[in-house]
Amino acid sequence: MKPASLNPVHVIGGGLAGSEAAWQVAEAGVPVVIHEMRPVRATDAHKTEALAELVCSNSFRSDDSSGNAVGQLHWEMRRLGSLIMAKGDAHQVPAGGALAVDRDGFSQAVTAALEAHPLVSIERGEIAGLPPAAWDNVIVATGPLTSPGLAQGLQALTGEDSLAFFDAIAPIVHVDSIDMETAWFQSRYDKAGPGGTGADYINCPLTKDQYEAFIDALLSAEKTEFKEWEGTPYFDGCLPIEVMAERGRETLRWGPMKPVGLTNRHNPTVKPHAVVQLRQDNALGTLFNMTGFQTKLKYGEQAAIFRMIPGLQNAEFARLGGIHRNTYLNSPKLLDDLLRLKADPRLRFAGQITGCEGYVESAATGLLAGRMAAAARLGRALPLPPATTALGALVNHITGGHIETIDEGPRSFQPMNINFGLFPPIAGVATTGPDGKRLKGPARSIARKQALTARAKEAMDAWARSVAAEITPAAPPATGSIAGASPAG
Ligand SMILES: Cc1cc2nc3c(=O)[nH]c(=O)nc-3n(C[C@H](O)[C@H](O)[C@H](O)COP(=O)(O)OP(=O)(O)OC[C@H]3O[C@@H](n4cnc5c(N)ncnc54)[C@H](O)[C@@H]3O)c2cc1C
Repeated sequence: MKPASLNPVHVIGGGLAGSEAAWQVAEAGVPVVIHEMRPVRATDAHKTEALAELVCSNSFRSDDSSGNAVGQLHWEMRRLGSLIMAKGDAHQVPAGGALAVDRDGFSQAVTAALEAHPLVSIERGEIAGLPPAAWDNVIVATGPLTSPGLAQGLQALTGEDSLAFFDAIAPIVHVDSIDMETAWFQSRYDKAGPGGTGADYINCPLTKDQYEAFIDALLSAEKTEFKEWEGTPYFDGCLPIEVMAERGRETLRWGPMKPVGLTNRHNPTVKPHAVVQLRQDNALGTLFNMTGFQTKLKYGEQAAIFRMIPGLQNAEFARLGGIHRNTYLNSPKLLDDLLRLKADPRLRFAGQITGCEGYVESAATGLLAGRMAAAARLGRALPLPPATTALGALVNHITGGHIETIDEGPRSFQPMNINFGLFPPIAGVATTGPDGKRLKGPARSIARKQALTARAKEAMDAWARSVAAEITPAAPPATGSIAGASPAG
């Protein structure tokens, strides 16, 4: 079919995800309309009318594709012909091992590339409710600051609890960094609950002195402030731990650190004064979150304070805690594995509204959503990238990798950056170095990361090759290639 005879895909939101999605649709030979509300309607964070504006830092984080998960995602996006990565590379500024960009040059280049593409049109204006019924293939990429009209439309369609407006994130720890000589598995009162075993939580015990020192550290630590427009979104079950500590030194012992119903397996005759519980966070069982530990402590303070907890002295954090304005879906419940809304499959979601976090992750999900939407329009099926790739691992987390909480507290699905805890574990990692000596500590961790990224590259390469037919234009190619991007296989 010729592009002119195809109905367009509609992309709502021209941020990181929407821009990448639209580019991918157009590069597959399918017409696409981007609906971006700026400058007709502003958000509280964007300052320009450019597409793909970076609202805060100018960094795409580490570009190390062998030892860092986001670096691996960069690699995969470049392999798949990402517009965001191509323009990021073209507008790079010096930043050591990170990929940082000249923010204006970058977003102007993304805007210019989309404006120049013959299959892309850009309409400025808010989509203030659910998209018109006539739009049969839509990508919603309206981000953490989705306008209220559209958010209300989505909420009406999917239900009250489907959309969150704030992150309330408790820190998430790589399970293999927890000292199980000190911590132990047990559910409170050994309750099994639905799907549980009675030993589902990891428990870290504190003596009275350790508890008092921990409270002192919380009270004296530096906190981040809410932005003026964010308000103070505290609600029951979601108070930051430092606010609880300010209300009284014993408050945490009656809340998330209560020691009742638990017996220290390593020291059964001594009752812990307080206990920190960690709950499994992903289906792979590689990540555990600190139950009830949402916090506004500055990132720099968090790791040091949480490592005061016995069992967590060497904890490695997949993400630190935080609370900030962020509109996002309860995706594991609402989206199918092709990122479509189960309640209305013509709507596909991409970017931070799906519950990923960060510029790169948002653009990556946009890339995949764009390709899926184009393939659907062309009557083709696009298989998902393998879970062993960074892109596959990220999408898996969004659509199904997370474990829903069964007990107290705020809704458990929380936005997440790409990290190695989302990758399926790998067997057969070298345990000795080139000198034949046994690898220990950091060296072992580096070997594991390198094995995971090598596996991911191989899998992504094979996937890109196997789907080449689904993502190349149906009719004469729309444009030439983009500077700095490798072809899609
Ligand atoms: C204050 C703040 C600071 C952040 N800092 C960082 C950071 O330093 N590093 C980082 O990696 N991530 C940061 N993030 C997260 C960042 O927003 C996302 O990583 C990324 O921008 C999300 O990409 P996106 O495409 O999903 O959304 P966006 O880039 O926000 O794009 C969404 C677009 O949709 C438009 N839109 C919204 N509603 C409608 C509508 N109804 N109709 C039409 N258009 C609409 C918006 O105008 C916007 O252009 C920050 C987020 C916020 C809110």
